[in-house]
Amino acid sequence: MLKHDQVQMKKQNRKIVLDRIRNHEPISRIQLAKITKMSPTTITRIVQELIEEDYIIEAMSEETAIGRRPTLINVNPEARYSIGVEIDRSKLRIGLLNFSCELVDFVETPLMRSESYEWIIDNLVLEIQKLILTNQISQERLLGIGIGIPGRIDQERGIVIISEQFKWKNKHVRDDLAQHFQCTIAIDNELKMQIFAESGKFFKPIQRNSILIGVGSGIGAAIILNGEIYRGLKNNAGEISHLTINPFGEQCSCGNRGCLSNYTREDTLQQFIPEAQRSEYNTLEKIVEGIHANEEWSIPLIDHIATYLAITINNLICIYEPDEVIVTGEALEKNIKIQNVVLAKCEKHIWRDIGTGIQIKFSELNETGVVKGAAMFVQKVEMEI
Ligand SMILES: [Zn+2]
Repeated sequence: MLKHDQVQMKKQNRKIVLDRIRNHEPISRIQLAKITKMSPTTITRIVQELIEEDYIIEAMSEETAIGRRPTLINVNPEARYSIGVEIDRSKLRIGLLNFSCELVDFVETPLMRSESYEWIIDNLVLEIQKLILTNQISQERLLGIGIGIPGRIDQERGIVIISEQFKWKNKHVRDDLAQHFQCTIAIDNELKMQIFAESGKFFKPIQRNSILIGVGSGIGAAIILNGEIYRGLKNNAGEISHLTINPFGEQCSCGNRGCLSNYTREDTLQQFIPEAQRSEYNTLEKIVEGIHANEEWSIPLIDHIATYLAITINNLICIYEPDEVIVTGEALEKNIKIQNVVLAKCEKHIWRDIGTGIQIKFSELNETGVVKGAAMFVQKVEMEI
């Protein structure tokens, strides 16, 4: 028993040292001993092990007038890699993340709405294989593949329970991919993946309580409580598209009336576009283009979306009182004008008594958010940090 405990403790100490190096590099052995409160002998032993395993590298020590400076230790960016994937309704995005949490490769391929599940999986396999080959990533250096998909996901069993965007039901994505890759494969809702990338380098949550709201072909949220992702009973926490906004509203596909998604979905937004132009702006992507091009109809449309977004933010703040709310979505991230409308609506709709001091901000990760977060999630799981 004692032996088992000692092994566990050694493992734990190694993790702590590697974690501290990743967060504080470049760092000397003396500094490491100080911040980990471990003895210099323990630090020297662990550092030696980590160097031998290629996780870290020593920088050249310099001779100075007052003697040798202590040797500094850095993470080896090429030590391990992970792959992040976003299966979006119109795009397949894949990225390669190095051990310093930098995206070193990123590819985007268009997806047609009519593509079947099998076609998408086959293509994904090909694109991942291509990425591994182009970047010459060996099996030993690949920690795993993380995949973000819109919808309700059973992340423990690797199954898409339902994805309204793709009309998928009970798709065993993890098993279907596992036939092609001998590494860890993790799938989750795309916002639950993205929030890892929003939370700072190596998933050290900057804020202990944080909410990410995504506005796109659907509306959803991911929640971090006390520094950990909050999943709820079956990983459905954050499925805000079926929040009841108006009990007397229109019938929703879920059976209830007046759900939030009724006010934010594509066909509702199309009602703001004059009939003669509707065929031109027949997809969400086209509508977003019209918004960025300042089409006349975009003004009331932005006002409408911003109002429902601000109401949603207020409702979430009343439940969770987070430190921050981050908003993500293609239409919002690169458009300061829309961001200002949203902020003005938040001023109006957020309950002042508790809303004051809560930061409302917009994601700056753009198209890389889900990919980076999914790859970071795999690193976190595999390195247990
Ligand atoms: Zn509903």
